[in-house]
Amino acid sequence: MTQDKSRSGHGRLLWAVVGLLLLPACGDRSPEPYQTEVLAFGTLVELVIADVDEDTAQRATDAILAELNWMQEAWHPWKPGPMGRTNQLLRTGAAFSANPSVLPLIQQAQQLAARSDGLFNPAIGELVALWGFHNDAPHGPPPDAAAIAQVLGHQPRMSDVHIEGIRMRGSNPHVQIDLGGFAKGYAVDRSIERLRQFGITNAILNAGGDLRAIGQRGDRPWRIGIRQPRGGGVLASVETSGDESIFTSGDYERYYEYQGQRYHHLLDPRTGRPARDTRSVTVIHGNGAEADAAATALFVAGPDEWHTLAQALGIKYVMLVDQEGVIHMNPAMAARVHFEADPPPAVNLSPPL
Ligand code: ADP
Ligand code: MG
Repeated sequence: MTQDKSRSGHGRLLWAVVGLLLLPACGDRSPEPYQTEVLAFGTLVELVIADVDEDTAQRATDAILAELNWMQEAWHPWKPGPMGRTNQLLRTGAAFSANPSVLPLIQQAQQLAARSDGLFNPAIGELVALWGFHNDAPHGPPPDAAAIAQVLGHQPRMSDVHIEGIRMRGSNPHVQIDLGGFAKGYAVDRSIERLRQFGITNAILNAGGDLRAIGQRGDRPWRIGIRQPRGGGVLASVETSGDESIFTSGDYERYYEYQGQRYHHLLDPRTGRPARDTRSVTVIHGNGAEADAAATALFVAGPDEWHTLAQALGIKYVMLVDQEGVIHMNPAMAARVHFEADPPPAVNLSPPL
């Protein structure tokens, strides 16, 4: 069985009408915000702008949609485009002038890979492809152990990409950069900056449950739902304050089942296989790019290692759902999370971050 609803329209902007995880605030009497939904980055993107006139909201929305369109094409993990071309050139080992649309992303991704001790490793595109996730409709069978060991043996790392000014060179022909765990966060950040240029101070950009929220809605904070990793529905809600990003990595986002086993898209670069012990990780952080990469890395780190990694990455709010459905989180996160599920799940509270 293939579960691929969220990715089916990758590469094109389509109008779609679905309301996702924005929860109505209780007793909210402020005017209806300006709301748009499109398909981008393989998921439903919802833009909500509050407290500006309709003309400004419309112009800002048009600008964001145009940007999302080029960003998803430029940074697509497996379709031809600037990122694909960069991967081809990296394989040659020769120096080349980097495409300006991918250079800053690659630089920031390198730093995050180093800070996460390689658990966030976007150089593992060959591995992602081997597992069938460079495909609009991923399916089994999963690769065999020998094939995994072979790809893993090439040890692709972001430090195999050498950058001087705008010149770039690869020193490992098996590096294939896949920014699937990061580009959406980067795109959300860029779009929020763009909104600010229009004088907008109250908005949400929500890419399939991964979002950045600025300001508030009328006199209330934005209220965000965090998805139940099994069975659907809302697990918990959180209110944002000021300027915050909430990103979740889940084993339900992109996966296939083969002979009763779930194979999902979050790979542990140490084993070359889907990370086993986590169902989802939610991170609250200032910017979207770091929140996105952190959620991916913390998912891989799992219930035993997430705390150490969150400290290394400077992340202050984490909620991890493990394979038994137990919630692991730090006290500051626990103070903000309101469980919507009944009965509420078991919680394993960590020391402060
Ligand atoms: P999404 O929110 O788009 O579902 P995530 O942010 O959780 O995705 O990232 C998942 C994607 O990141 C995968 O589809 C793959 O492209 C890439 N990826 C998988 N494992 C890793 C890893 N360990 N480090 C970096 N990127 C990864
Ligand atoms: Mg991510």
